Amino acid sequence: MSRPVYQPADAMLEVREIYAELARRPLRKNCTGLADCCRFRLTGKTPYLTIGEALVAAAAWRAAGRTSVRPAPDGSCPFLGGDGRCRIYEGRPFGCRTHFCEAAGGPMARGEVRDLIQRLEDIDHRLGGQGAVNLPAAVQAAMAPKSGGKRR
Ligand code: SF4
Repeated sequence: MSRPVYQPADAMLEVREIYAELARRPLRKNCTGLADCCRFRLTGKTPYLTIGEALVAAAAWRAAGRTSVRPAPDGSCPFLGGDGRCRIYEGRPFGCRTHFCEAAGGPMARGEVRDLIQRLEDIDHRLGGQGAVNLPAAVQAAMAPKSGGKRR
C-alpha cells in the first residue's frame, strides 16, 4: 500500500499547532507592537520561513482578500500595513513570534524553542523543502496555485 501524500492542509494544521504551543509556553514576551522588526532595511534582518510557515502566512493574506505579494518600496515586510501593524498577525511566521526586537527584550533563547523549530523543519522536509527561505520569496512561492496555499 502506498504511503499517503503529505498535504499542504495537513502541514498548515501542524504549523498552527506549533504556534499554539509556543503561545502556551511561559516564555518572556514583551512585544509592544512598534513594528521596527518589520522594517527589514532598518534592522538589516529578514525573517526566514519554512514552507509550512509560508503556507500559513499566505493563507492569512488570502483571507484578507489579497492575491499577490508585492515588495514594499521601503524594504519593509510586504505585510506591514500603513498603520504600522501586521496585516497577517494571526498567521505571522515563527520568527516574528520569537525574534523579539531590543525594545521587546531581545530574542528568545534558541534552546527554549529548539524543539518547535525542529518540528517546523520536519514539516518543511516532508513538503519537499530544503530549508528556510527569506520571507518575501517564501510567501510568493506559497501564493502560487501549485503550492496549495489557497486551500485555506
Ligand atoms: S509578517 Fe507581520 S510581524 Fe512578521 S515581519 Fe511581516 S509585518 Fe512584521
